[in-house]
Amino acid sequence: MSNTDTRDPTSLRTPIVAVLGHVDHGKTSLLDKIRGSAVIEGEAGAITQHIGATAVPLDIISSIAGDLVDPDDFDLPGLLFIDTPGHHSFTTLRSRGGALADIAILVVDVNDGFQPQTLEALDILKRSQTPFIVAANKIDTVPGWNANEDSPINDTYESQSDRVRSRLDESLYEIIGNLSDEEFSADLYWRVQNFQRNVGVVPVSAMTGEGVPDLLTVMMGLSQRYMKEEMEIDVAGPGVGTVLEVKEEKGFGKTIDIVLYDGTIKADDTIVVGGQNDPIVTEVRALLQPRPLAEIRTESRFEKVDEVSAASGIKIAAPELGDAMAGAPVRVVRDRPLEDVIQEVRAELADIAVDTAEEGVVVKADTLGSLEAMADALDEAEVPIVRAEVGDVAPRDISVASTAEDPKQQAILGFNVDVLSDAKQRAEIEDVTLFTDEVIYQLIEEYEDHIEAIEREQQDTILENIVRPARFRILPDHTFRQNDPAVVGVEVNSGTVQNNANVVKFEGNEPDRVGQVKGIQEQGEDVDEARAGNRVSVAIDGPTVGRQIEEDDELWIEIPEKHAKILEQELASEIPGDELEALNMYLDKQRSRDPFWGK
Ligand code: GDP
Repeated sequence: MSNTDTRDPTSLRTPIVAVLGHVDHGKTSLLDKIRGSAVIEGEAGAITQHIGATAVPLDIISSIAGDLVDPDDFDLPGLLFIDTPGHHSFTTLRSRGGALADIAILVVDVNDGFQPQTLEALDILKRSQTPFIVAANKIDTVPGWNANEDSPINDTYESQSDRVRSRLDESLYEIIGNLSDEEFSADLYWRVQNFQRNVGVVPVSAMTGEGVPDLLTVMMGLSQRYMKEEMEIDVAGPGVGTVLEVKEEKGFGKTIDIVLYDGTIKADDTIVVGGQNDPIVTEVRALLQPRPLAEIRTESRFEKVDEVSAASGIKIAAPELGDAMAGAPVRVVRDRPLEDVIQEVRAELADIAVDTAEEGVVVKADTLGSLEAMADALDEAEVPIVRAEVGDVAPRDISVASTAEDPKQQAILGFNVDVLSDAKQRAEIEDVTLFTDEVIYQLIEEYEDHIEAIEREQQDTILENIVRPARFRILPDHTFRQNDPAVVGVEVNSGTVQNNANVVKFEGNEPDRVGQVKGIQEQGEDVDEARAGNRVSVAIDGPTVGRQIEEDDELWIEIPEKHAKILEQELASEIPGDELEALNMYLDKQRSRDPFWGK
């Protein structure tokens, strides 16, 4: 930092870091390791436990990172890690329509590689344009690994055997390849020059701490280099934050856990919080932080504080918070018109609000952020939404879904929510299909499978009721009966001759209905239909052989114009090729007379 820079360093806030990745890939362990290392390195109290977050100051980062970090190179105060790992919380963490986390760590198990939630996390990072690095975790599980606790990656890599190194390299390059498949240009972090353009991959072990110094160094460097401007805030100004969770707390009633990313919040402030219906205006009753471990014996796990500044995690106790939503904005009113702040909150909520259509499916999600992510994904899949809300699936959602005219839309998609038991019962009665999952794209895939099944069923019923095309020929010397009905041997050239269908014969291109199929026999047995290639005898009610029909005549099943249209436009891919051939020949004949026939 240059000495001529007179900017007050306290106006630079801590970058907010989120940890994402597939389940069991080590998100929690990594956070624990960082916290643990910080506790060991620092004097008691040097790291501060926030509600839902842990602040690791620069000097602690620098002592963990050793030679890798010189504190003089930095003027950001440290890093604030959000404690709730997973992209579920990440989507909740929003600020002014963007991601609240300034930077993210995507954890990928080196053995397990990319998994569904890894892809989903990448998708979310892409959408929110959040810079991130990849922690290639569990390097200690490479067979033959020789662990060097808390060592920087280069040192421990050097001390491994050739075999171990090449096995690790293989896994790392696979991860880099996977990232490139997802259109992220990535490389091992020490080869990355520009972290805005390339994703750095840091090999780590959350178990042994190897690579953790590198991880912290890269995070710190990335923030300092690319995020400094965004970290410049008016610390004393009115606080702005995002609700992480709405929680019942003994002795305090409904409380909200928030991440404050701008300004200050004081214990006597009036705040405006985004609610299910309207912004909630309320007075702070208490600002709560976790009590240091040593004092945990006292009744409350929390300690009241007078004020907190960004960036930090804090619990707010206040009346009227029942309607508050996870993911919603929180704003301190202080020294300005209340109405302006209400408008700001309303505008932010409207920004996150999901566009709904006249008709569509019902969507429920646990937070505003995840609701928005669901809506984006459904929009991409071209699935319209009639109602989108934060909360568990309730009976009134079933009522809304059950009124859909299209059976495909009689469905509810719930992301990370429960289905209330009376809603479950109601859904069965009302024939509403419920889908719940914790991975967005799996949820959408399940729904798409369901749509496909419905469509297949619909087509099957249409096919059952539609006249199938066929072209067939009366075989020479195969007249078994002249008339009433005429019984002749035929060969089906293409298509399907079905019982009770009408029979036409073309004179030139003029169709002439000659009668109706009144029975089909194949080798003496009655059958309902004869397929292309079959030789059968058919009874045709109407004509007399030798008058309206003759041996060697080419006959057709008559297709009503409406049916021809459905067959051509909707079912062409569903019917067998020979049937399609018969249809096309039939259409050619009809259209040479009337070009618009069946259109
Ligand atoms: P999360 O679901 O992503 O939060 O994963 P966890 O942190 O709960 O880790 C899942 C499992 O992997 C746990 O049994 C951890 O002990 C184990 N684990 C996590 N990181 C490592 C690592 O670096 N090395 C080894 N050997 N095990 C790990």
